[in-house]
Amino acid sequence: GTARGLGARPGRVGIMGGTFDPIHHGHLVAASEVAHLFHLDEVVFVPTGQPYQKDLSKVASAEDRYLMTVIATAENPQFRVSRIEIDREGPTYTLDTLREMRAMYGPDVELFFITGADALGAILSWHNVDELFDLAHFVGCNRPGHRLTDTGLPDGKVSLVEIPALAISSTECRERVRKGEPIWYLVPDGIVRYINKTGLYLDDHMSG
Ligand code: ATP
Ligand code: MG
Repeated sequence: GTARGLGARPGRVGIMGGTFDPIHHGHLVAASEVAHLFHLDEVVFVPTGQPYQKDLSKVASAEDRYLMTVIATAENPQFRVSRIEIDREGPTYTLDTLREMRAMYGPDVELFFITGADALGAILSWHNVDELFDLAHFVGCNRPGHRLTDTGLPDGKVSLVEIPALAISSTECRERVRKGEPIWYLVPDGIVRYINKTGLYLDDHMSG
Protein backbone atom coordinates (compact mmCIF):
# COMPACT_ATOMS: atom_id res chain seq x y z
CA GLY A 1 0.00 0.00 0.00
CA THR A 2 0.94 3.65 0.06
CA ALA A 3 2.90 5.16 2.92
CA ARG A 4 0.85 6.83 5.59
CA GLY A 5 1.69 10.50 5.99
CA LEU A 6 2.66 11.97 9.35
CA GLY A 7 -0.45 12.73 11.33
CA ALA A 8 -2.73 10.50 9.25
CA ARG A 9 -4.71 8.06 11.37
CA PRO A 10 -4.51 4.35 10.71
CA GLY A 11 -7.85 2.67 10.06
CA ARG A 12 -6.94 -0.97 10.66
CA VAL A 13 -4.42 -1.87 13.33
CA GLY A 14 -3.03 -5.29 14.22
CA ILE A 15 -1.91 -6.01 17.77
CA MET A 16 0.62 -8.83 18.00
CA GLY A 17 0.97 -10.03 21.58
CA GLY A 18 3.75 -12.30 22.74
CA THR A 19 6.53 -12.95 25.21
CA PHE A 20 9.09 -12.53 22.41
CA ASP A 21 11.75 -14.36 24.42
CA PRO A 22 13.30 -14.07 21.86
CA ILE A 23 11.29 -12.76 18.86
CA HIS A 24 11.83 -15.07 15.86
CA HIS A 25 10.88 -15.32 12.19
CA GLY A 26 7.67 -17.23 13.06
CA HIS A 27 6.35 -14.09 14.78
CA LEU A 28 7.46 -11.81 11.96
CA VAL A 29 5.98 -13.99 9.21
CA ALA A 30 2.72 -14.26 11.15
CA ALA A 31 2.46 -10.46 11.55
CA SER A 32 3.35 -9.86 7.91
CA GLU A 33 0.87 -12.46 6.64
CA VAL A 34 -2.01 -11.19 8.79
CA ALA A 35 -1.24 -7.59 7.75
CA HIS A 36 -1.54 -8.72 4.14
CA LEU A 37 -4.68 -10.85 4.56
CA PHE A 38 -6.59 -8.24 6.61
CA HIS A 39 -5.29 -5.12 4.83
CA LEU A 40 -3.83 -3.69 8.03
CA ASP A 41 -2.24 -0.24 8.06
CA GLU A 42 0.15 -1.23 10.83
CA VAL A 43 0.98 -3.98 13.30
CA VAL A 44 1.90 -3.07 16.87
CA PHE A 45 4.01 -5.68 18.65
CA VAL A 46 3.21 -5.79 22.37
CA PRO A 47 5.78 -7.67 24.47
CA THR A 48 4.15 -8.99 27.65
CA GLY A 49 5.09 -7.63 31.05
CA GLN A 50 4.78 -10.52 33.50
CA PRO A 51 3.32 -13.39 31.53
CA TYR A 52 1.00 -14.94 34.15
CA GLN A 53 1.15 -18.33 32.47
CA LYS A 54 4.95 -18.52 32.45
CA ASP A 55 7.48 -18.97 35.28
CA LEU A 56 8.86 -15.45 35.72
CA SER A 57 12.33 -16.57 36.81
CA LYS A 58 12.78 -18.31 33.45
CA VAL A 59 11.78 -15.32 31.32
CA ALA A 60 14.32 -12.75 30.06
CA SER A 61 13.87 -9.24 31.46
CA ALA A 62 11.14 -7.07 29.96
CA GLU A 63 13.76 -4.59 28.71
CA ASP A 64 15.72 -7.30 26.89
CA ARG A 65 12.55 -8.64 25.27
CA TYR A 66 11.39 -5.12 24.37
CA LEU A 67 14.74 -4.18 22.83
CA MET A 68 14.89 -7.39 20.81
CA THR A 69 11.39 -6.70 19.49
CA VAL A 70 12.44 -3.18 18.48
CA ILE A 71 15.58 -4.48 16.76
CA ALA A 72 13.64 -7.16 14.85
CA THR A 73 10.91 -4.80 13.60
CA ALA A 74 12.90 -1.60 13.04
CA GLU A 75 13.28 -2.00 9.27
CA ASN A 76 9.57 -2.52 8.55
CA PRO A 77 7.67 0.79 8.27
CA GLN A 78 4.38 -1.05 9.04
CA PHE A 79 5.66 -2.51 12.32
CA ARG A 80 5.74 -0.69 15.66
CA VAL A 81 6.44 -1.78 19.24
CA SER A 82 4.41 -0.74 22.28
CA ARG A 83 5.59 -0.62 25.90
CA ILE A 84 1.99 -0.69 27.11
CA GLU A 85 2.27 -4.07 28.86
CA ILE A 86 5.88 -3.69 29.96
CA ASP A 87 5.16 -0.40 31.72
CA ARG A 88 1.97 -1.65 33.40
CA GLU A 89 2.29 -2.91 36.98
CA GLY A 90 1.27 -6.45 37.82
CA PRO A 91 0.43 -9.37 35.61
CA THR A 92 -0.43 -8.89 31.96
CA TYR A 93 -4.03 -9.29 30.82
CA THR A 94 -5.06 -9.01 27.19
CA LEU A 95 -8.31 -7.31 28.21
CA ASP A 96 -6.43 -4.39 29.85
CA THR A 97 -4.26 -4.01 26.77
CA LEU A 98 -7.20 -3.94 24.38
CA ARG A 99 -9.08 -1.42 26.55
CA GLU A 100 -6.01 0.87 26.55
CA MET A 101 -5.44 0.48 22.83
CA ARG A 102 -9.10 1.24 22.13
CA ALA A 103 -8.91 4.38 24.29
CA MET A 104 -5.67 5.43 22.55
CA TYR A 105 -6.86 4.91 18.97
CA GLY A 106 -10.46 6.01 19.44
CA PRO A 107 -13.70 4.33 18.41
CA ASP A 108 -13.25 4.44 14.61
CA VAL A 109 -10.14 2.27 14.29
CA GLU A 110 -10.60 -1.45 13.71
CA LEU A 111 -8.38 -3.50 16.01
CA PHE A 112 -7.18 -7.01 15.15
CA PHE A 113 -5.64 -8.99 17.98
CA ILE A 114 -3.15 -11.44 16.45
CA THR A 115 -1.93 -14.42 18.38
CA GLY A 116 -1.09 -18.09 18.01
CA ALA A 117 -4.09 -20.36 17.86
CA ASP A 118 -2.74 -22.08 20.99
CA ALA A 119 -2.66 -18.86 23.01
CA LEU A 120 -6.02 -17.76 21.60
CA GLY A 121 -7.84 -20.65 23.24
CA ALA A 122 -6.37 -19.70 26.62
CA ILE A 123 -7.13 -15.98 26.30
CA LEU A 124 -10.73 -16.60 25.31
CA SER A 125 -11.26 -18.97 28.23
CA TRP A 126 -9.76 -16.58 30.81
CA HIS A 127 -11.59 -13.40 30.01
CA ASN A 128 -15.06 -11.99 29.45
CA VAL A 129 -15.39 -12.98 25.81
CA ASP A 130 -18.21 -10.54 25.06
CA GLU A 131 -16.11 -7.52 26.05
CA LEU A 132 -13.06 -8.85 24.18
CA PHE A 133 -15.16 -9.24 21.04
CA ASP A 134 -16.50 -5.69 21.39
CA LEU A 135 -12.94 -4.39 21.47
CA ALA A 136 -11.26 -6.31 18.67
CA HIS A 137 -11.41 -8.93 15.99
CA PHE A 138 -9.34 -11.99 16.93
CA VAL A 139 -6.96 -13.68 14.51
CA GLY A 140 -5.55 -17.05 15.49
CA CYS A 141 -2.45 -18.19 13.60
CA ASN A 142 -2.00 -21.89 13.01
CA ARG A 143 1.50 -23.27 13.05
CA PRO A 144 2.80 -26.83 12.95
CA GLY A 145 1.68 -28.79 16.02
CA HIS A 146 -0.68 -26.07 17.26
CA ARG A 147 -3.79 -26.59 15.16
CA LEU A 148 -7.09 -25.29 16.43
CA THR A 149 -9.85 -26.13 14.02
CA ASP A 150 -13.01 -25.56 16.04
CA THR A 151 -13.07 -22.62 18.44
CA GLY A 152 -16.72 -23.26 19.31
CA LEU A 153 -17.11 -19.49 19.01
CA PRO A 154 -19.43 -17.39 16.86
CA ASP A 155 -18.29 -16.57 13.33
CA GLY A 156 -17.23 -13.06 12.47
CA LYS A 157 -15.24 -12.30 15.61
CA VAL A 158 -12.53 -14.95 15.32
CA SER A 159 -10.58 -15.87 12.20
CA LEU A 160 -8.13 -18.72 11.93
CA VAL A 161 -5.40 -18.29 9.34
CA GLU A 162 -2.70 -20.55 8.01
CA ILE A 163 0.80 -19.16 8.39
CA PRO A 164 3.43 -20.50 5.95
CA ALA A 165 4.91 -23.37 7.95
CA LEU A 166 7.71 -22.21 10.20
CA ALA A 167 8.28 -24.69 13.01
CA ILE A 168 10.20 -22.14 15.07
CA SER A 169 9.50 -21.46 18.73
CA SER A 170 11.24 -19.23 21.26
CA THR A 171 11.71 -22.28 23.48
CA GLU A 172 13.66 -24.00 20.72
CA CYS A 173 15.78 -20.87 20.14
CA ARG A 174 16.65 -20.61 23.86
CA GLU A 175 17.58 -24.29 24.03
CA ARG A 176 19.78 -23.97 20.97
CA VAL A 177 21.65 -21.01 22.50
CA ARG A 178 22.14 -22.96 25.74
CA LYS A 179 23.55 -25.92 23.82
CA GLY A 180 25.80 -23.75 21.65
CA GLU A 181 23.81 -24.50 18.49
CA PRO A 182 23.31 -21.78 15.85
CA ILE A 183 20.13 -19.69 15.67
CA TRP A 184 21.20 -17.80 12.54
CA TYR A 185 18.24 -17.52 10.12
CA LEU A 186 15.73 -18.67 12.75
CA VAL A 187 15.79 -15.12 14.15
CA PRO A 188 16.85 -11.82 12.51
CA ASP A 189 20.62 -11.24 12.39
CA GLY A 190 20.37 -8.39 14.90
CA ILE A 191 18.78 -10.76 17.42
CA VAL A 192 21.64 -13.27 17.09
CA ARG A 193 24.07 -10.42 17.76
CA TYR A 194 22.06 -9.05 20.70
CA ILE A 195 21.90 -12.50 22.34
CA ASN A 196 25.64 -13.04 21.82
CA LYS A 197 26.45 -9.59 23.16
CA THR A 198 24.33 -9.90 26.32
CA GLY A 199 24.86 -13.59 27.05
CA LEU A 200 21.09 -14.14 27.21
CA TYR A 201 19.93 -17.77 27.55
CA LEU A 202 23.28 -19.06 28.75
CA ASP A 203 22.92 -20.91 32.07
CA ASP A 204 25.16 -18.44 33.93
CA HIS A 205 23.40 -15.36 32.50
CA MET A 206 22.42 -12.93 35.25
CA SER A 207 19.43 -10.78 34.36
CA GLY A 208 19.04 -7.16 35.40
P1 ATP B 1 7.61 -20.11 23.71
O1 ATP B 1 8.25 -21.24 22.98
O2 ATP B 1 8.46 -19.52 24.78
O3 ATP B 1 6.20 -20.40 24.14
P2 ATP B 1 6.72 -18.84 21.27
O4 ATP B 1 7.62 -19.18 20.15
O5 ATP B 1 5.41 -19.55 21.35
O6 ATP B 1 7.51 -18.92 22.64
P3 ATP B 1 5.50 -16.38 22.05
O7 ATP B 1 6.19 -15.12 22.36
O8 ATP B 1 4.87 -17.16 23.12
O9 ATP B 1 6.54 -17.30 21.23
O10 ATP B 1 4.53 -16.17 20.83
C1 ATP B 1 3.70 -15.06 20.66
C2 ATP B 1 2.59 -15.52 19.77
O11 ATP B 1 3.09 -15.89 18.47
C3 ATP B 1 1.95 -16.77 20.37
O12 ATP B 1 0.56 -16.62 20.34
C4 ATP B 1 2.43 -17.88 19.48
O13 ATP B 1 1.46 -18.91 19.36
C5 ATP B 1 2.68 -17.21 18.14
N1 ATP B 1 3.75 -17.89 17.42
C6 ATP B 1 4.91 -18.31 17.94
N2 ATP B 1 5.67 -18.94 17.03
C7 ATP B 1 4.96 -18.94 15.88
C8 ATP B 1 5.21 -19.46 14.56
N3 ATP B 1 6.33 -20.12 14.26
N4 ATP B 1 4.27 -19.24 13.61
C9 ATP B 1 3.12 -18.60 13.93
N5 ATP B 1 2.82 -18.09 15.15
C10 ATP B 1 3.72 -18.26 16.12
MG1 MG C 1 4.32 -20.02 23.04
